[in-house]
Amino acid sequence: MNNHVTVLEIDSNALLHNLNYFKQKIKPETKILAVVKAFGYGSDGVQVAQFLEDKVDYFAVAYTQEGVALRQSKIKTPILVLHPQIPNLQTIVDYRLEPNLYNFKIFNAFLTLADEMPLMNYPIHLKFNTGLNRLGFWHTDIPKILTDLNGFNHVKVQSIFSHLAASEDLEEKEFSINQLNNFAYIAQQFYKHLGYEPLLHILNTSGVVNYVKAQFDMVRVGIGLYGFGNDEKETAQLKNTHNLKSIISQIHLIQPGETVGYNRAFVAKSPTKSATIPVGHADGLSRKLGNKKGYVLINNQKAKIIGNVCMDMIMVDVTKIDCKEGDEVIIFNNQKMIQHIADVSETIVYETLTAISQRVKKVLN
Ligand SMILES: *Cc1c(COP(=O)(O)O)cnc(C)c1O
Repeated sequence: MNNHVTVLEIDSNALLHNLNYFKQKIKPETKILAVVKAFGYGSDGVQVAQFLEDKVDYFAVAYTQEGVALRQSKIKTPILVLHPQIPNLQTIVDYRLEPNLYNFKIFNAFLTLADEMPLMNYPIHLKFNTGLNRLGFWHTDIPKILTDLNGFNHVKVQSIFSHLAASEDLEEKEFSINQLNNFAYIAQQFYKHLGYEPLLHILNTSGVVNYVKAQFDMVRVGIGLYGFGNDEKETAQLKNTHNLKSIISQIHLIQPGETVGYNRAFVAKSPTKSATIPVGHADGLSRKLGNKKGYVLINNQKAKIIGNVCMDMIMVDVTKIDCKEGDEVIIFNNQKMIQHIADVSETIVYETLTAISQRVKKVLN
């Protein structure tokens, strides 16, 4: 049992609100895949999936082990493993996970396994590279794929998909539309020769926001479920799901000339009251937040982080705040605070959220 007093509260009402927000953007018949990789974007993939299980059509995880964790928690929903590796294919089958097959090496390995076991119509997903140049077959691979699949009933192509490189960036609209067109062409080739019609999907969160007409049969929503759209306006429509809280462990009264923390980075110019909070860079707070760049909320007031962020602690300036040891500390509880942390940390909210470490206790409310 994790009894760390630093707790990430996951707001299930917010998750539901965000899911419904994306549902109302798409056609009623379009399926929804909830992306719960990386522990549900730094929350708790299992708890999030348990809550969403009866509300979505699919889950996706990045790695096999993440899918195994969902199955071990009795999740029955189909689970797409976005980035499987050959040594994991047997585990994928054992847990009835559905592999993305992205090149001939893993495609052939899976077909061999499917033949040997043997499997019957086992769902596989084929990913195509349309410009991200990360994972996926080339469109020129289609004839060979079709030949290999011809008459091979051990697997069934459950879906064909691709991923946009810059869906959030309207300056790259031409590139994105080209990707969408390439994908439509690839899908057409399959529909013509496969004899059945796999699901098609290409849109992530910002894809749904900017290119909703290209929703095909399913959309893959990740960051949007957790409260972030492309821009402030979109994000304002969503609710924050990640609330990081802690408590004051200790208060120090510091005299002018005394210092706080490692390397004596904070030097008191006047009498200062500091509070020590049990959350540090090992919990996911960047060291860039130190030295008054970041803040927390204590009794509704901003308390700046003074000195360096330690591995397990931060110290904050509470000179002007009426507070005592044991009081609640809010590290973030809305999107603006998370965005601020991301900005100061010189990164994006995806990294700020997923950085929340396994040491932090996770509670879905
Ligand atoms: C992570 C991921 C998503 C989700 O993207 P968001 O921007 O978080 O919505 C969708 N598809 C693939 C292939 C991914 O890797």
